[in-house]
Amino acid sequence: MNCPYKKNCIPPFLAGYTPQNMKIIGITGGIGSGKTEVARVFKKLGAKILSGDKIGKEVVEKNRSVLKKLIRIFGEGILNRNKKLDRRKLGKIAFSSIENRDKLNTIIHPYLLSNLREKIKEYRKKKKGVVVIDAALIIEWGLQKELDYLILVESSFQNRIKRLKEYSGYSQKEAINRIKAQIKDRTRRKYADYVIRNDKDLKELKRKVLFLWERLISKMS
Ligand code: ATP
Repeated sequence: MNCPYKKNCIPPFLAGYTPQNMKIIGITGGIGSGKTEVARVFKKLGAKILSGDKIGKEVVEKNRSVLKKLIRIFGEGILNRNKKLDRRKLGKIAFSSIENRDKLNTIIHPYLLSNLREKIKEYRKKKKGVVVIDAALIIEWGLQKELDYLILVESSFQNRIKRLKEYSGYSQKEAINRIKAQIKDRTRRKYADYVIRNDKDLKELKRKVLFLWERLISKMS
């Protein structure tokens, strides 16, 4: 079939499948490995997506106790003229050192996780369907125990550096530091049910996700 190789085409027999019991699938992997691209294919297949990045942003923007804690740790320099959070300024300060990044994560992650768990709980009540969690730190949070399947997206060090430089504006040094600050794929592999290797083009990645989805369907039905 040609269809899976075309950019916006999902074969109807794959897109039409809804498991009778709600399935929660985690997608994890290092920075720049391609998690969000994998989640995008699942979205086309009909899954609901919960993005760790998005929930993290919501928490920072909407939760007043988080903002207060951020100001206490990083100072008023993270605010704009209207005393609202300036995400760029926060990013600059918080990612200037590993120590600052850890401080940021310590403040945000408990709120992010409880928000995420709340959303999972709500979806579980719905019974039917698929929810995909796109988050780099699923294993570090210990969240994998609460999921039905965990998919690990892996990509070579060189490819990840290249993507981080091209698409996320990191310098070579920043990209290396960010990758090195995370756990290694060989540790992630201990927890993963499936591994998707993302070292070729996006069409190939999509083909692999569809292949995996077929396998998951046969398990779920
Ligand atoms: P992060 O942890 O930083 O959120 P991620 O694991 O979610 O990263 P993506 O956002 O999916 O990674 O991918 C990073 C960038 O690399 C994106 O711009 C994406 O389109 C691109 N990319 C991912 N995989 C490929 C690929 N196989 N070919 C070309 N570009 C790719």
